Amino acid sequence: MLDKPKPIPLYLAPLRPGKDKQKKMFVRVSDIPPEGMDVEIEELIPPLDPAIGEVIPVVGPATGALSLEPLSKGVVRVKGVVSCALMLCCSRCLDSFISEVELEVNELCAPLPKGGMLQGELKDAFGYIHGVIDLTALYTSLLYSVLEMKPLCSPDCKGLCPNCGANRNRESCGCDKSARDPRWEVLEEIKKQLLGKDVA
Ligand SMILES: [Zn+2]
Ligand SMILES: [Zn+2]
Repeated sequence: MLDKPKPIPLYLAPLRPGKDKQKKMFVRVSDIPPEGMDVEIEELIPPLDPAIGEVIPVVGPATGALSLEPLSKGVVRVKGVVSCALMLCCSRCLDSFISEVELEVNELCAPLPKGGMLQGELKDAFGYIHGVIDLTALYTSLLYSVLEMKPLCSPDCKGLCPNCGANRNRESCGCDKSARDPRWEVLEEIKKQLLGKDVA
């Protein structure tokens, strides 16, 4: 990367002018020197609003560092790691918990053509317009892919009791732990029959 830190030409614009301190991080592609540049990320980002499911609060600022490497024809490779904390809901016990997310960023950015669609080798690239890359939108879009996984508050989360709904991480409800899923009974029956045949 760069040996000496250089002043970074960043264009910061309020997300909702006059309303809050959330900023968006923009980089003008013509300001990226041929040898590339590093950008430090530290900004508050709005809650994630996935197409399916609840709004996910973002706890504290997103932080990290991204390196921008100019390639040909306005294409820029953006690489680095951005971390932030999300308030997620455990898929097993339904409790809310804070999850530290480390996003590995390695994306190509390309100017959107007039039709608005990137094609060929660049079809999966992150499009930008007016010569300006919106870094916030770039890594926020990657955050949504994290949400597609089933989150767990801890790898050994005990989940909810299927009988009374108690959270087994916090209380022992006293329900019969040997009570089995009725779906196993069919297999038990088959097992008995097979064993019976062996004996006969
Ligand atoms: Zn859980
Ligand atoms: Zn129970």
